[in-house]
Amino acid sequence: MRVCPEGHMFEERLVSSCPFCHPDVHLVPNRPPRPWVSFLLSLLIFGGGQFYNGRKARGILTFFGLAAGTFSTWYGIVEFPGNRESGIGLIMAGLVLAIPVWLFSLADAYEDAVEIGTGVAALTERNPRVAALLNLLPRTWGFGYIYAGEVRMGVLLFAAGFVLTIWATRSGLGVLASFLTLVQLATSAHAYAMTRRAQKLAAAKHRARLREIPSRGPWVFRIAAGLIVLFELALAALHGLAAFTPAL
Ligand SMILES: [Zn+2]
Repeated sequence: MRVCPEGHMFEERLVSSCPFCHPDVHLVPNRPPRPWVSFLLSLLIFGGGQFYNGRKARGILTFFGLAAGTFSTWYGIVEFPGNRESGIGLIMAGLVLAIPVWLFSLADAYEDAVEIGTGVAALTERNPRVAALLNLLPRTWGFGYIYAGEVRMGVLLFAAGFVLTIWATRSGLGVLASFLTLVQLATSAHAYAMTRRAQKLAAAKHRARLREIPSRGPWVFRIAAGLIVLFELALAALHGLAAFTPAL
C-alpha cells in the first residue's frame, strides 16, 4: 500500500502509479487472478486465495488467525471431558474467531479476484470485507472504523469493547455478551456499507476505465455474510441462554 502526494491510497502491485491522479494508468493487470481458482485455494489452505491474489499481508494474517482459532477449538475439545469449563471456553473462543475469518476469507478470495479483474480493486482504497471483519471480531472491535478512516469512533469502540468484554467474562457472559455480539454485528455491517459506498463512488467516477462489472454483484460475499449473520445470532442467543441456565 502506498500513499500519493495528494493523499490517495493505492496498491503498487496492481498499478504503477496513483490511479486517481493519473487517468492513463491501466487498472486491470495483464493476467488477473481467476475468482474460482482463488476460492478453491482458500478452501485448500488458510489464506491461499489471498496469496494467489497477491495480498501477502492479508494472506499471512488470515493464515495465523485461522490457525489460532482452529488450535484453540481443537485444544478445547481435548481438554473438555476433564476440565469442562475451560474446555467450553477454548472451543467458543476458537469458533468465534475461526468461523467469521474463514467465511470472510473465502468470500474475499473470490470477490477480490473479481475486483482485480474489473479494475475496481485498483480504485479501492479500503477493502470493505477487511473493515467488516475487523469490526465483527470481539478482540479487534473498533479497528474496522479506524481502518475505514473513522479513527475517533474506532478508538472509542475498541476501549469500550475492552472494558465490556472483561466485565461480561467476569459476570459469566450472559445478557451483556449477547448484547455486545449484536452491536458488533451491526457495526460490522456499518463499516462494510461505508467502505463499499466509497468503492462504488470511485468505480462510478472512473467507469470508462474499468472492464465490465458483473451484473450480479458480490454474490459469494452475500452468501458468506448470510452465514456469518446466522452464526452471530446463534452466538448471541447462546450467551443469552447461558444467563438463565447457569448449569450450561
Ligand atoms: Zn493520487
